[in-house]
Amino acid sequence: MLLYQNCSRLLGECKTKKRYLPGVSRYGKFLALVLCILLDTSLVLSQNNPYRMPSHSSPITTMAHQSGDEAPASFYEVLRKALKKRKTDVDRICPHTDSVARRILEDYGAMFLAKKVTPPPVCIFTSEAEVAKFQEDADYVTENIDGADIELQREAMKQLLKAREKALKEGLNITPRDGAEAARRSYADSYELWNTRFMPALDYWLQQGRLTEAQVARLKALPLHEQIAEVLELERSGIYFSKDLSKSILYSIAAPGTSQHIAMLAFDVNEFDNVRVRELLAEQGWFQTVLSDLPHFTFLGLKEKDLPKNGLKSVVVDGQTFWIPNVTQ
Ligand SMILES: [Zn+2]
Repeated sequence: MLLYQNCSRLLGECKTKKRYLPGVSRYGKFLALVLCILLDTSLVLSQNNPYRMPSHSSPITTMAHQSGDEAPASFYEVLRKALKKRKTDVDRICPHTDSVARRILEDYGAMFLAKKVTPPPVCIFTSEAEVAKFQEDADYVTENIDGADIELQREAMKQLLKAREKALKEGLNITPRDGAEAARRSYADSYELWNTRFMPALDYWLQQGRLTEAQVARLKALPLHEQIAEVLELERSGIYFSKDLSKSILYSIAAPGTSQHIAMLAFDVNEFDNVRVRELLAEQGWFQTVLSDLPHFTFLGLKEKDLPKNGLKSVVVDGQTFWIPNVTQ
Protein backbone atom coordinates (compact mmCIF):
# COMPACT_ATOMS: atom_id res chain seq x y z
CA MET A 1 0.00 0.00 0.00
CA LEU A 2 2.77 2.35 1.02
CA LEU A 3 4.63 1.44 -2.13
CA TYR A 4 1.57 2.15 -4.21
CA GLN A 5 0.93 5.53 -2.59
CA ASN A 6 4.50 6.67 -2.94
CA CYS A 7 4.72 5.51 -6.52
CA SER A 8 1.53 7.16 -7.61
CA ARG A 9 2.71 10.35 -5.90
CA LEU A 10 6.05 10.20 -7.62
CA LEU A 11 4.49 9.37 -10.94
CA GLY A 12 2.07 12.22 -10.37
CA GLU A 13 5.02 14.53 -9.98
CA CYS A 14 6.54 13.18 -13.18
CA LYS A 15 3.27 13.92 -14.93
CA THR A 16 3.31 17.53 -13.76
CA LYS A 17 6.86 17.98 -14.93
CA LYS A 18 5.99 16.59 -18.34
CA ARG A 19 4.53 19.94 -19.25
CA TYR A 20 8.01 21.38 -19.16
CA LEU A 21 9.90 18.35 -20.36
CA PRO A 22 8.02 16.96 -23.33
CA GLY A 23 10.71 14.31 -23.73
CA VAL A 24 9.78 12.61 -20.46
CA SER A 25 7.98 9.44 -21.45
CA ARG A 26 7.82 5.81 -20.54
CA TYR A 27 11.50 5.87 -19.76
CA GLY A 28 10.84 8.60 -17.16
CA LYS A 29 8.07 6.53 -15.61
CA PHE A 30 10.33 3.53 -15.47
CA LEU A 31 12.97 5.59 -13.67
CA ALA A 32 10.34 6.86 -11.27
CA LEU A 33 9.25 3.29 -10.53
CA VAL A 34 12.82 2.22 -9.83
CA LEU A 35 13.18 5.22 -7.56
CA CYS A 36 9.96 4.28 -5.77
CA ILE A 37 11.19 0.78 -5.11
CA LEU A 38 14.48 2.11 -3.77
CA LEU A 39 12.63 4.64 -1.62
CA ASP A 40 10.33 2.06 -0.12
CA THR A 41 13.19 -0.31 0.52
CA SER A 42 14.88 2.42 2.53
CA LEU A 43 11.65 3.07 4.43
CA VAL A 44 11.37 -0.58 5.35
CA LEU A 45 14.98 -0.58 6.47
CA SER A 46 14.43 2.52 8.56
CA GLN A 47 11.48 0.86 10.28
CA ASN A 48 13.86 -1.72 11.65
CA ASN A 49 15.93 1.00 13.28
CA PRO A 50 14.93 1.19 16.97
CA TYR A 51 15.65 4.94 16.99
CA ARG A 52 13.59 5.84 13.97
CA MET A 53 11.25 8.75 14.34
CA PRO A 54 7.59 7.81 14.67
CA SER A 55 5.86 8.32 11.36
CA HIS A 56 3.49 10.94 12.79
CA SER A 57 6.33 13.33 13.51
CA SER A 58 9.03 12.23 11.16
CA PRO A 59 10.46 14.75 8.73
CA ILE A 60 12.35 11.84 7.11
CA THR A 61 9.36 9.80 5.97
CA THR A 62 7.61 12.70 4.30
CA MET A 63 7.96 14.01 0.80
CA ALA A 64 8.62 17.54 -0.23
CA HIS A 65 6.11 19.28 -2.45
CA GLN A 66 6.69 22.58 -4.06
CA SER A 67 3.82 24.96 -3.92
CA GLY A 68 2.83 26.03 -7.42
CA ASP A 69 5.26 25.67 -10.25
CA GLU A 70 8.01 27.94 -9.07
CA ALA A 71 11.30 26.39 -8.03
CA PRO A 72 12.49 27.92 -4.76
CA ALA A 73 15.39 30.34 -4.88
CA SER A 74 18.56 29.59 -2.94
CA PHE A 75 18.10 30.50 0.72
CA TYR A 76 21.69 31.69 1.07
CA GLU A 77 21.44 33.91 -2.00
CA VAL A 78 18.26 35.59 -0.78
CA LEU A 79 19.68 35.90 2.72
CA ARG A 80 22.89 37.50 1.46
CA LYS A 81 20.89 40.19 -0.34
CA ALA A 82 18.58 40.77 2.64
CA LEU A 83 21.52 41.12 5.02
CA LYS A 84 23.36 43.45 2.68
CA LYS A 85 20.42 45.83 2.91
CA ARG A 86 20.74 45.65 6.69
CA LYS A 87 24.47 46.37 6.34
CA THR A 88 25.53 43.00 7.68
CA ASP A 89 26.46 39.62 6.20
CA VAL A 90 25.93 35.91 6.73
CA ASP A 91 29.29 35.37 8.36
CA ARG A 92 28.68 38.11 10.85
CA ILE A 93 25.33 36.72 12.02
CA CYS A 94 26.34 33.07 11.72
CA PRO A 95 30.08 32.35 11.23
CA HIS A 96 30.60 29.58 8.68
CA THR A 97 33.26 28.08 10.95
CA ASP A 98 30.61 27.48 13.62
CA SER A 99 28.74 24.31 12.67
CA VAL A 100 26.14 24.80 15.40
CA ALA A 101 25.33 28.31 14.21
CA ARG A 102 24.99 27.11 10.61
CA ARG A 103 22.72 24.24 11.64
CA ILE A 104 20.57 26.73 13.56
CA LEU A 105 20.46 29.04 10.53
CA GLU A 106 19.41 26.22 8.22
CA ASP A 107 16.76 24.94 10.65
CA TYR A 108 15.31 28.20 12.00
CA GLY A 109 16.61 30.66 9.43
CA ALA A 110 13.30 31.57 7.78
CA MET A 111 12.84 34.39 10.30
CA PHE A 112 15.93 36.18 8.96
CA LEU A 113 13.91 36.93 5.82
CA ALA A 114 10.96 38.44 7.69
CA LYS A 115 9.65 41.79 6.45
CA LYS A 116 8.58 44.90 8.42
CA VAL A 117 10.17 43.56 11.62
CA THR A 118 13.66 43.37 13.11
CA PRO A 119 15.28 39.96 12.68
CA PRO A 120 17.95 39.14 15.27
CA PRO A 121 21.52 40.31 14.62
CA VAL A 122 22.95 36.83 15.35
CA CYS A 123 21.95 33.17 15.01
CA ILE A 124 22.90 32.46 18.62
CA PHE A 125 22.54 34.97 21.44
CA THR A 126 25.00 34.17 24.18
CA SER A 127 23.77 36.20 27.15
CA GLU A 128 20.68 37.63 28.78
CA ALA A 129 22.07 41.17 28.36
CA GLU A 130 22.46 40.67 24.61
CA VAL A 131 18.89 39.33 24.32
CA ALA A 132 17.47 42.13 26.48
CA LYS A 133 19.14 44.79 24.33
CA PHE A 134 17.84 43.26 21.09
CA GLN A 135 14.31 42.91 22.47
CA GLU A 136 14.25 46.51 23.70
CA ASP A 137 15.45 47.85 20.35
CA ALA A 138 13.03 45.66 18.38
CA ASP A 139 10.02 47.50 19.79
CA TYR A 140 7.65 44.83 20.96
CA VAL A 141 4.06 45.23 22.08
CA THR A 142 1.92 43.37 24.60
CA GLU A 143 -1.67 42.22 24.10
CA ASN A 144 -3.82 40.06 26.27
CA ILE A 145 -4.96 37.09 24.21
CA ASP A 146 -7.25 34.56 25.84
CA GLY A 147 -6.01 35.54 29.32
CA ALA A 148 -2.26 35.52 28.58
CA ASP A 149 0.03 38.51 28.07
CA ILE A 150 1.48 37.95 24.61
CA GLU A 151 4.54 39.92 23.55
CA LEU A 152 5.53 40.16 19.89
CA GLN A 153 7.15 42.61 17.52
CA ARG A 154 4.63 45.26 16.51
CA GLU A 155 3.90 44.13 12.94
CA ALA A 156 3.80 40.45 13.97
CA MET A 157 1.23 41.29 16.64
CA LYS A 158 -0.85 43.42 14.29
CA GLN A 159 -1.14 40.59 11.78
CA LEU A 160 -1.77 37.95 14.46
CA LEU A 161 -4.67 40.00 15.86
CA LYS A 162 -6.10 40.35 12.33
CA ALA A 163 -5.94 36.59 11.82
CA ARG A 164 -7.60 36.04 15.19
CA GLU A 165 -10.35 38.53 14.43
CA LYS A 166 -11.14 36.71 11.19
CA ALA A 167 -11.06 33.37 13.02
CA LEU A 168 -13.50 34.58 15.68
CA LYS A 169 -15.89 35.77 12.96
CA GLU A 170 -15.88 32.25 11.53
CA GLY A 171 -16.59 30.71 14.94
CA LEU A 172 -12.95 29.60 15.33
CA ASN A 173 -10.22 30.88 17.62
CA ILE A 174 -6.46 31.38 17.74
CA THR A 175 -5.15 31.05 21.28
CA PRO A 176 -1.68 30.86 22.86
CA ARG A 177 -0.33 27.48 23.84
CA ASP A 178 1.06 27.45 27.41
CA GLY A 179 0.16 31.06 28.20
CA ALA A 180 2.67 33.88 27.85
CA GLU A 181 5.39 31.40 26.91
CA ALA A 182 3.68 31.06 23.53
CA ALA A 183 5.37 34.25 22.34
CA ARG A 184 8.36 36.23 23.69
CA ARG A 185 10.94 34.31 25.70
CA SER A 186 14.06 35.47 27.50
CA TYR A 187 17.49 33.93 27.25
CA ALA A 188 16.90 32.24 30.63
CA ASP A 189 13.60 30.75 29.37
CA SER A 190 15.36 29.24 26.36
CA TYR A 191 18.08 27.80 28.60
CA GLU A 192 15.56 26.27 31.02
CA LEU A 193 13.61 24.74 28.15
CA TRP A 194 16.80 23.21 26.76
CA ASN A 195 17.38 21.47 30.09
CA THR A 196 13.83 20.07 30.14
CA ARG A 197 14.88 17.99 27.12
CA PHE A 198 18.63 17.61 27.66
CA MET A 199 18.53 16.30 31.26
CA PRO A 200 15.82 13.60 30.91
CA ALA A 201 17.38 12.44 27.64
CA LEU A 202 20.74 11.95 29.35
CA ASP A 203 19.05 9.80 32.04
CA TYR A 204 17.26 7.79 29.39
CA TRP A 205 20.31 7.06 27.25
CA LEU A 206 22.31 6.23 30.38
CA GLN A 207 19.66 3.66 31.36
CA GLN A 208 19.69 2.30 27.82
CA GLY A 209 23.43 1.84 28.03
CA ARG A 210 24.06 4.14 25.07
CA LEU A 211 25.90 6.66 27.27
CA THR A 212 28.21 6.00 30.22
CA GLU A 213 28.20 7.78 33.59
CA ALA A 214 31.44 9.49 32.60
CA GLN A 215 30.01 10.71 29.28
CA VAL A 216 26.90 12.06 31.00
CA ALA A 217 28.96 13.92 33.62
CA ARG A 218 31.19 15.34 30.91
CA LEU A 219 28.26 16.47 28.76
CA LYS A 220 26.61 18.21 31.72
CA ALA A 221 29.83 20.07 32.54
CA LEU A 222 30.55 21.28 29.00
CA PRO A 223 30.30 24.97 28.15
CA LEU A 224 26.90 25.51 26.55
CA HIS A 225 28.05 25.96 22.97
CA GLU A 226 30.09 22.76 23.05
CA GLN A 227 27.21 20.99 24.78
CA ILE A 228 24.87 21.88 21.91
CA ALA A 229 27.47 20.76 19.37
CA GLU A 230 27.91 17.39 21.09
CA VAL A 231 24.17 16.84 21.42
CA LEU A 232 23.76 17.41 17.69
CA GLU A 233 26.66 15.05 17.04
CA LEU A 234 25.15 12.31 19.25
CA GLU A 235 21.86 12.69 17.41
CA ARG A 236 23.64 11.65 14.22
CA SER A 237 23.95 8.19 15.76
CA GLY A 238 20.30 8.01 16.85
CA ILE A 239 20.77 9.29 20.42
CA TYR A 240 17.99 11.84 20.15
CA PHE A 241 17.18 14.54 22.70
CA SER A 242 13.64 15.62 21.76
CA LYS A 243 10.88 15.19 24.34
CA ASP A 244 9.85 11.79 22.97
CA LEU A 245 13.50 10.89 22.17
CA SER A 246 12.56 10.14 18.59
CA LYS A 247 13.95 13.14 16.71
CA SER A 248 16.40 16.00 16.98
CA ILE A 249 16.06 18.26 20.00
CA LEU A 250 15.94 21.17 17.53
CA TYR A 251 12.52 19.95 16.33
CA SER A 252 11.33 19.89 19.93
CA ILE A 253 12.75 23.11 21.39
CA ALA A 254 15.36 25.60 20.29
CA ALA A 255 18.95 25.54 21.44
CA PRO A 256 19.50 28.22 24.13
CA GLY A 257 19.79 31.69 22.67
CA THR A 258 18.50 30.68 19.24
CA SER A 259 14.73 30.66 19.54
CA GLN A 260 12.43 32.51 17.18
CA HIS A 261 10.56 33.27 20.42
CA ILE A 262 13.57 35.31 21.56
CA ALA A 263 13.22 37.23 18.29
CA MET A 264 9.54 37.81 19.21
CA LEU A 265 8.56 36.52 15.78
CA ALA A 266 7.05 33.21 16.91
CA PHE A 267 3.72 32.23 18.40
CA ASP A 268 2.63 28.76 19.53
CA VAL A 269 -0.99 28.12 18.59
CA ASN A 270 -3.39 25.71 20.30
CA GLU A 271 -5.54 25.36 17.20
CA PHE A 272 -2.65 24.44 14.87
CA ASP A 273 -4.37 21.31 13.58
CA ASN A 274 -7.31 23.26 12.16
CA VAL A 275 -6.65 23.78 8.46
CA ARG A 276 -8.71 26.99 8.32
CA VAL A 277 -6.76 28.46 11.26
CA ARG A 278 -3.52 27.73 9.40
CA GLU A 279 -4.92 29.40 6.28
CA LEU A 280 -5.96 32.50 8.21
CA LEU A 281 -2.53 32.75 9.80
CA ALA A 282 -0.84 32.29 6.42
CA GLU A 283 -2.97 35.09 4.93
CA GLN A 284 -1.48 37.39 7.56
CA GLY A 285 2.12 36.28 6.99
CA TRP A 286 2.33 33.66 9.75
CA PHE A 287 3.73 30.25 8.69
CA GLN A 288 5.03 27.00 10.16
CA THR A 289 8.79 27.18 9.53
CA VAL A 290 10.34 24.76 12.01
CA LEU A 291 10.00 21.25 10.66
CA SER A 292 7.70 19.07 12.76
CA ASP A 293 7.20 21.68 15.51
CA LEU A 294 3.48 21.68 14.77
CA PRO A 295 2.07 24.42 17.06
CA HIS A 296 4.91 26.83 16.24
CA PHE A 297 4.21 29.65 13.76
CA THR A 298 6.70 32.25 12.55
CA PHE A 299 5.92 35.73 11.37
CA LEU A 300 7.47 36.33 7.95
CA GLY A 301 5.25 39.17 6.73
CA LEU A 302 5.27 37.65 3.24
CA LYS A 303 2.58 36.24 0.99
CA GLU A 304 2.58 32.46 0.67
CA LYS A 305 3.00 32.65 -3.11
CA ASP A 306 6.20 34.69 -2.62
CA LEU A 307 7.88 32.26 -0.22
CA PRO A 308 9.70 30.20 -2.90
CA LYS A 309 11.32 33.27 -4.43
CA ASN A 310 12.35 34.21 -0.90
CA GLY A 311 14.46 31.08 -0.62
CA LEU A 312 11.99 28.90 1.26
CA LYS A 313 10.74 25.50 0.15
CA SER A 314 7.59 23.74 1.30
CA VAL A 315 7.68 20.38 3.00
CA VAL A 316 4.51 18.57 4.01
CA VAL A 317 4.48 16.73 7.33
CA ASP A 318 1.20 15.17 8.50
CA GLY A 319 -0.69 17.20 5.93
CA GLN A 320 0.75 20.46 7.29
CA THR A 321 2.97 22.63 5.14
CA PHE A 322 6.26 23.81 6.55
CA TRP A 323 8.33 26.51 4.87
CA ILE A 324 11.99 25.88 5.49
CA PRO A 325 15.23 27.32 4.09
CA ASN A 326 16.03 25.96 0.65
CA VAL A 327 19.60 24.95 1.33
CA THR A 328 21.33 23.13 -1.46
CA GLN A 329 24.64 21.53 -0.70
ZN1 LIG B 1 7.37 27.79 19.49
